[in-house]
Amino acid sequence: MTHPQPDPGPVLLIHGGAGAIQKGDASPEREAAIRADLRRALAAGWEILDRGGPSLDAVEAAVRVMEDSPFFNAGHGAALTSEGTIEHDSSIMDGRNRAAGAVSCTTRIRNPVSAARAVMERTPHVMLTAAGAEQFAREQGLPIVAPWYFFTPERQAALERVQAAKKAKAAASEKDSHGTVGAVARDKAGHLAAATSTGGYADKMVGRVGDSPIIGAGTYANDATVAFSGTGQGEIFIRCVIGHRISCLMELKGMTLEAASAQALEELGAMGGTGGFIAVGADGSAILPHNTPGMYRGIARGGRMAVAIFGDDRLDA
Ligand code: ASP
Repeated sequence: MTHPQPDPGPVLLIHGGAGAIQKGDASPEREAAIRADLRRALAAGWEILDRGGPSLDAVEAAVRVMEDSPFFNAGHGAALTSEGTIEHDSSIMDGRNRAAGAVSCTTRIRNPVSAARAVMERTPHVMLTAAGAEQFAREQGLPIVAPWYFFTPERQAALERVQAAKKAKAAASEKDSHGTVGAVARDKAGHLAAATSTGGYADKMVGRVGDSPIIGAGTYANDATVAFSGTGQGEIFIRCVIGHRISCLMELKGMTLEAASAQALEELGAMGGTGGFIAVGADGSAILPHNTPGMYRGIARGGRMAVAIFGDDRLDA
């Protein structure tokens, strides 16, 4: 006789980007402010899950907080292109029916994740790009801002360092290049959702689209298997189709989330990819692996919240 497993309850995971994040890089005040914004993102999503709301609302709410924060490479505070402009990519996916929406190369939509959701819910399409995406967002009444709203002095300085290193034919510091934000959740009804939002990376070519708006690569959700959001070298994430790969390993090979994630991260590394991801399984299992020194990350479960930055930070919740 099999015994019914107790329901694992809702869970929310977030990330604010993976990379060469070292202790001492940020002042204690800045580090405390980053941790506070991670907690605010968790709180925004958890409040929804705790009152029985849908995982889709929770991941959107958590990502919006990080898009509005200057500390993460998404929305306000996004990385700059080689021409000093900002182009955002974002996507969202609903594990119930694998509905998905995405926007890419947007320059004026304040919260790209909400535009991605509107594409999913109010158009017959999965992705809108550039001017068309912006026109649609405007028509939907989503906040549109002047491009300067997104700029921060830190990202301007990072672009200058990356371009100077390129001129000197030296390697740019990885911490100047990367970042992305994302959230995955399982709600009280057992439904999964995932969302991701990014500015890509410093000095990317104008018009370059990364993995974050690509369903299966940067974002994936399927109630039968996993909700996934990634951060790292988008080109490799796209070539690995890593979110969908984890889902397939679970569905077709019967692997646990942990085993499938370990294999996928190894495959990513073998292709020269660095980064990390957050993933929650249909059974409520949660994982936040990365092959970089650090990853901004957090978990909310059972009313407890924990955030971490460095590789050896403990994350208990
Ligand atoms: N994955 C993002 C991109 O390639 C960047 C990052 O997460 O660091 O656009």
